[in-house]
Amino acid sequence: MSAGRTPLVVVGGGVAGLSVALAAAPRPVLLLARGADGEGSASALAQGGIAAAVGAGDTAAAHVRDTIVAGAGHNETFAVRYLATQAPRAIARLQALGLQFDHDGGRLRLGREGGHHADRIVHAGGDASGARLVAALAKAVRDAGHVEVRSGVAVDALLLRGSGVAGVRVRDGRGDAALVEAANVVLATGGIGGLFAASTNPAGATGSGLALGLAAGARGRDLEFMQFHPTALALDRANDAGPLPLVTEALRGAGARLLDGQGRPLMAGLHPLGDLAPRDLVARRVWQVLQQGDRVWLDATHLGDAWPTHFPTVHAACRAHGIDPAREPIPVTPAAHFHMGGLATDRDGRTGVHGLHAVGEVACNGVHGANRLASNSLLEGLVYGHRLGRRMATRSLPRASRGAHAWTSLGPAADGHARQRLRTLLWSALGPVRNGRDLRAARQHLHDDAAAYGWHGRLAMQLLDAALARGASLGAHYRSDASGS
Ligand SMILES: Cc1cc2nc3c(=O)[nH]c(=O)nc-3n(C[C@H](O)[C@H](O)[C@H](O)COP(=O)(O)OP(=O)(O)OC[C@H]3O[C@@H](n4cnc5c(N)ncnc54)[C@H](O)[C@@H]3O)c2cc1C
Repeated sequence: MSAGRTPLVVVGGGVAGLSVALAAAPRPVLLLARGADGEGSASALAQGGIAAAVGAGDTAAAHVRDTIVAGAGHNETFAVRYLATQAPRAIARLQALGLQFDHDGGRLRLGREGGHHADRIVHAGGDASGARLVAALAKAVRDAGHVEVRSGVAVDALLLRGSGVAGVRVRDGRGDAALVEAANVVLATGGIGGLFAASTNPAGATGSGLALGLAAGARGRDLEFMQFHPTALALDRANDAGPLPLVTEALRGAGARLLDGQGRPLMAGLHPLGDLAPRDLVARRVWQVLQQGDRVWLDATHLGDAWPTHFPTVHAACRAHGIDPAREPIPVTPAAHFHMGGLATDRDGRTGVHGLHAVGEVACNGVHGANRLASNSLLEGLVYGHRLGRRMATRSLPRASRGAHAWTSLGPAADGHARQRLRTLLWSALGPVRNGRDLRAARQHLHDDAAAYGWHGRLAMQLLDAALARGASLGAHYRSDASGS
């Protein structure tokens, strides 16, 4: 097959990849993903919903303001404006696909989350929003004649020709490899939470697309900015990389209190909003207490019999682990949740490598700044995925550049033990509280045992380097050794 007539290759079956694939019609698209129908994606786990200024009196300008305040002013304003102004259209497109959002009477039910100054979060199926969204997009992709979906495969190398991309290498479940030629590749491979000991992300979210893009010569941006959710269920999972269940902030909104091991209120006197202080502040406080060897509990026993109906997902997760939250406090830990940084792109998802695009959590076009506003990331995948897909649909795809072929491959991964050590290392050095000494020590450790850590270690080094380079605290990046900390 000549590279000029190859399909658009999209890697990743979460909200971003599915959105690109749908919008690229009538271009032929080959969608490659590890799991079928969004399985294994962070998108399918999302609980909160999608932010959009669709309520009476709310405006895109207000959504922009809230996004930039959350991002500590580190955002690209033009990228934020586009996100906020396109949000209502993204919701309308989903409704046209048949996605039923939750309603009160005849109106969309709009929730509010931390950092938003208006009710602007739409949900589908309550806290099952991500699963419903992915199901609707995956069905639309299945029904679309222009998309071929190949699931059960992982991309582990990019074929480069001259200064551009010429294809990808896919491996199936048996380890057999095949080349897919493509002059245009979209990486929509999600985040990196799986590199941390405590994370809400799927185990497979270890940054393979980010690592591949960087290895191919694309530039990384804002790699140090990782958002930590303050309350995930603290499970003892020494050798299990699976996601920790989220213990939603809405519980604290409903009166739940964070307590230390002696039953003392954790946030008392630290912030006027107490338990509802900004996410990063609460995450740091919980982290510090845990680092001192204590435990942290979320006491929501006052909800009593209302638990199963008001918070069914958290209730089910607790019960699955032998905890009855109506009678006992829930053990909690902060957890790596969302990567603001990624492969640097423009608004059309272009990286600096000819023909190589990135969108969604793997990418960084500056929309989230130094900290993401809640419920803006599904929206990012929808809005920027759609934009990229439309660009691909309406423009003639550039042909692959000329020159010699060369493979950029991930190479060996860290094995199970090394990956567990890596998670522990990054959790302690690159977690909610960082300092230069620990960052340097972690870097040295990875350097000294580079062979054991493989490409995961190389990616981790780049994250550590970015955190070292930013000596001051900003947004979610907190340096305890910064002057004034
Ligand atoms: C528990 C949880 C709750 C959340 N709640 C919300 C919320 O309420 N609202 C909100 O806006 N955001 C929320 N987020 C964040 C949001 O879900 C993610 O940022 C967003 O879904 C990322 O979408 P994506 O398409 O970029 O990546 P993903 O949805 O993670 O999809 C990545 C895809 O790429 C595939 N993949 C990865 N590497 C490879 C490879 N090498 N080869 C082939 N395929 C590969 C994966 O299998 C997957 O299909 C939440 C996240 C979590 C973890």
